Amino acid sequence: MKEITLAPLPYAEDALAPTVTAKTISFHYGKHHAGYVKTLNGLVAGTKYEGMSLEDIVVFSRTAGDTAIFNNAAQIWNHDFYWRSLAPDGKDCEPSPELLAAVDASFGSFDACKAALADAAVKRFGSGWAWLVAKEGKLVVESTPNADTPLGRPGVKPLLVIDVWEHAYYLDWQNARAAYVKAVVDGHLNWVFASGNIK
Ligand code: MN
Repeated sequence: MKEITLAPLPYAEDALAPTVTAKTISFHYGKHHAGYVKTLNGLVAGTKYEGMSLEDIVVFSRTAGDTAIFNNAAQIWNHDFYWRSLAPDGKDCEPSPELLAAVDASFGSFDACKAALADAAVKRFGSGWAWLVAKEGKLVVESTPNADTPLGRPGVKPLLVIDVWEHAYYLDWQNARAAYVKAVVDGHLNWVFASGNIK
């Protein structure tokens, strides 16, 4: 049986410190993210979802209303996308000319785009995610609650994501979500990853 696997972290656990410390990543990646993988494999065993790609499980379980399967599958996909949306300070921080042109056309400036993303991340009530996506020829910022994801929505291409579940920042920042978001947006977004996603 082909199981869904936990994708490797794209850097060492301490690579994002002090914004996201190794302690946070050890729980967030090693317990939360890994837990969704284990739970999903248990839920899909013996069902029509067994053997499907993770992306297909997300899309088909959403349509079918299989909520537990959708929540765990989407959380796995969102977390894998989140780890790749982050980078060590000063690394991969330059958008491609193509992405920068799209950012300027949609937001007016790179700083305005980052501010919009940070604002969505801070304002998401409760658990969820803040996304930069390409949609109908322009870039927009969105946020989704809980496990919800833009993956599989027609015409929408996710470029970057910030996790704003408390488990993403509470050990390092306690309740100061805005400070965590600012530190991520100012120094740890992987704009090279985003540039690849817009193609
Ligand atoms: Mn998370």
